[in-house]
Amino acid sequence: MKKSVLGLLLLLVVFACKENKKENAKTALSVEKKEKAAIKLYTFDGGTVQVNQLRLFSQDSSYAGLSKDFADAFYVIQHPKGNLMWDAGLPEGLVGMPEPFTSADGAFTVSRKDSLVNQLKAIGMTVDDFDYIALSHTHFDHSGHANALKNATWLVPETEYDFITSEEMKKDNADLYNAIIDLTKIKKLKGDYDVFGDGTVVLKYAPGHTPGHQVLFLDLVNHGPMLLSGDLDHFSENREFRRIPIFNYDVKQTNASMDMFEAFAKEKDAKVYLQHSREDFNKMPKTPKFLN
Ligand SMILES: [Zn+2]
Repeated sequence: MKKSVLGLLLLLVVFACKENKKENAKTALSVEKKEKAAIKLYTFDGGTVQVNQLRLFSQDSSYAGLSKDFADAFYVIQHPKGNLMWDAGLPEGLVGMPEPFTSADGAFTVSRKDSLVNQLKAIGMTVDDFDYIALSHTHFDHSGHANALKNATWLVPETEYDFITSEEMKKDNADLYNAIIDLTKIKKLKGDYDVFGDGTVVLKYAPGHTPGHQVLFLDLVNHGPMLLSGDLDHFSENREFRRIPIFNYDVKQTNASMDMFEAFAKEKDAKVYLQHSREDFNKMPKTPKFLN
């Protein structure tokens, strides 16, 4: 009799613990849901890149003789704690040019229709409304209007900062260096960075395309988790077949970043958007509409 009472008591205790755990999990879940910050993501047209020599985008001859139209988006992320610009489109000097501009080597023909200041009017913002700017990397088609955000803090991986401000860069690629020259409020990053401290806007370190390339993870209340690729993968075939451009800074690093990216996307069940993919660009709501 004693034994069975003890057994019953034990059973009750175990049951109570289980119930308690369930209750706790339920509370945690509802708290998480309630407290997840309401973010808005606006996608803007930062111009068009007509790639005349697509072969540059693979180490092998997969794209010999082909060309491709690339989108060139930039993004505004509004978080209750502040505003972030992700990437900065093509140079604004292209706006108003009578003809698209073709690079000296003929590889790219680029154009941009509108300036940042004008584009921001559509959502009632000015360049002074930004707390942060982060670039996936400092190539010319991602840093176009960066200098306009000189009052914002530039969130930049230290490796990218050292690369773009090197003496070699200033001498041989002055245009790239000059594109970020007015960004003087600088926060150098080592690895991943949670911008607002709540896991909803996270810069993920993904080097290889350049020494300090990064991608952006967003956790939206309605749309769910998503990743903006930067130039880790330029278009869907490159992601599917793991093709790496011949001009990437480090192939081994790129491969490691691709592993990280795919594993992270899977872990978070995140939708992936390739920033240069015209198809992915077209999936985004047109400003002033947004994802949230
Ligand atoms: Zn690039």
